Amino acid sequence: MLHATVDLDQYRTPVANLDAIDPADTGPYPPDSDGKRAAQEDVGVLVRRMAERQRQFYADGRFALLLLLQALDAGGKDGTIRRALSGLNPQGVRVSSFKHPTELELAHDFLWRVHRAVPRAGKIGVFNRSHYEDVLVVRVDELVPEEVWRARYAHIVAFERLLFDAGTRFVKVYLHIDRDEQAKRLQRRIDDPTRNWKFDADDLRVRGQWDAYREAYAEVFARTGTNDAPWLIVPANRKWYRDVVVATAVVDALEALPLRWPEPEVDVRSFTVED
Ligand code: AMP
Ligand code: MG
Repeated sequence: MLHATVDLDQYRTPVANLDAIDPADTGPYPPDSDGKRAAQEDVGVLVRRMAERQRQFYADGRFALLLLLQALDAGGKDGTIRRALSGLNPQGVRVSSFKHPTELELAHDFLWRVHRAVPRAGKIGVFNRSHYEDVLVVRVDELVPEEVWRARYAHIVAFERLLFDAGTRFVKVYLHIDRDEQAKRLQRRIDDPTRNWKFDADDLRVRGQWDAYREAYAEVFARTGTNDAPWLIVPANRKWYRDVVVATAVVDALEALPLRWPEPEVDVRSFTVED
């Protein structure tokens, strides 16, 4: 049994938008240590449900699930993957991180590297960043002309439609933190020796583009938050709430599928296992 149930609809586009959602929201949980404990216990319950459902999802083999994570620097993508998916069978999960494109990748269309990484049927794919960088960092840093990145919204919608029609279901997550929370987390990367490795001086430059990213994200949500693949804007200042929201969304996506156990091709019961 869960202590509380997160109402995902309030965080889903088109209802949700960045101004309407408080990054510090804790939904049905009290914003204190009791709420935190309850949410952490609920993540445990949800992860067990996820793993249970994953067995049949794999056996059924008609659907794929793509959990796509976008956030500003220090938004918590790595921690979300570590904590909200911690009980899944690793054999059925593949995490892909999208960094600066290589020379080979840049010599292709922007979806080339992404299409190769999408999960096959029966598997759960996790994208740590994604094709959305091609209308985010690419837009803000002016890496290609505007008419090139503008055309990509339609390409992305068509691409996700193609995947949907082939059986892929989407959980597209934006981890929503505020400026103060980002400052705290970046400062921790400077102060804490075990986090120094995560520090990237470039993150401080990107922090200066806060408003430009906000605008770029708002347009992403407006143009690519479709019925088949809506965005989920997850309040992420509090990690424990972020985790329970993402775990709920993944469980919901798996439980919404009309899964069945495959029919055996032989009459299994006609066999006996000899001593
Ligand atoms: P990190 O996730 O912090 O390890 O950094 C990965 C970096 O790769 C980020 O600065 C992203 O903005 C950058 N990146 C990811 N995809 C693209 C892309 N398609 N074009 C340009 N930069 C990208
Ligand atoms: Mg970075």
